[in-house]
Amino acid sequence: MGRRSKVADRFGQPVDVENTVVAVRYCAKCGLNLRGRPADGQCPTCGYSIHDSVYGRYVVDSDRSEARELLDGANVVLYPVGLVSGLTALGMLTTLLGARDFPNAVEDVFNVGLFFATLGSIVAATGIVLLTDRHPMAYYRARYGNLGFLLKLAAGLVGLAAALIAAGRYCPRPCWQVLHLAFFTIPSCIFLSRLQALMRRLPNLLLARYAKVAYRLTCVLAAAALAIVLLRPLAYSHVSLSGFVTALTLLAVTLGLVLLIWVMRLLLLVRKALLWICR
Ligand SMILES: [Zn+2]
Repeated sequence: MGRRSKVADRFGQPVDVENTVVAVRYCAKCGLNLRGRPADGQCPTCGYSIHDSVYGRYVVDSDRSEARELLDGANVVLYPVGLVSGLTALGMLTTLLGARDFPNAVEDVFNVGLFFATLGSIVAATGIVLLTDRHPMAYYRARYGNLGFLLKLAAGLVGLAAALIAAGRYCPRPCWQVLHLAFFTIPSCIFLSRLQALMRRLPNLLLARYAKVAYRLTCVLAAAALAIVLLRPLAYSHVSLSGFVTALTLLAVTLGLVLLIWVMRLLLLVRKALLWICR
């Protein structure tokens, strides 16, 4: 078996023409690395189907209790998302009515959106726990409880802490703004990409595409928000830049509202699909 790149391991074909697992895939039950094993066999440790671990077992074919747990998760996530969306819309409207002029109105509405996006990251973290694929504890112990992973994690955290201390010392304000944006972007992106995987496993490819669009919109919005918070201090001293920043802010606010509506619609459809499976 030739050496494959990490990209091929993650996104390439997991099984070759001889029906052997060639990518790094883990047993869904016990976390054993299945590379080199026949795809139509069973895990030598726990006996779980290798095919189901590699391609995922459809939720519709699994035990009904899994779909019911996911439905409970969808209900728990849906109501806070509705509440945060309603509060965001109300906050933006109130700000808009009290604004002095158009550029100030756009800036204030964007700041309200940033504040509620921070609350949204807590909802996204709840979604990661309740509305994504779950595995038994043995799987997490095998994948993340080993020395190699813990050393890599410790090295990553030390590197990140060193970078943050250095950035905080020389340019504290942009550093905190980047951290703030990362705080709401990372949980939202993880939740939406894992929701996309769950929808493929439902199986519901249309909802998987909806989740993919929401993921991409979140990335574009985060990039726009980063450009705005970094350019805004410059726009106060350079008049030529202020028009561009106002236009970009207006675009980001519009994109944020579209994303909110899109995610609400997505979660309602996910709930409906899970209800159908639980019938
Ligand atoms: Zn196993």
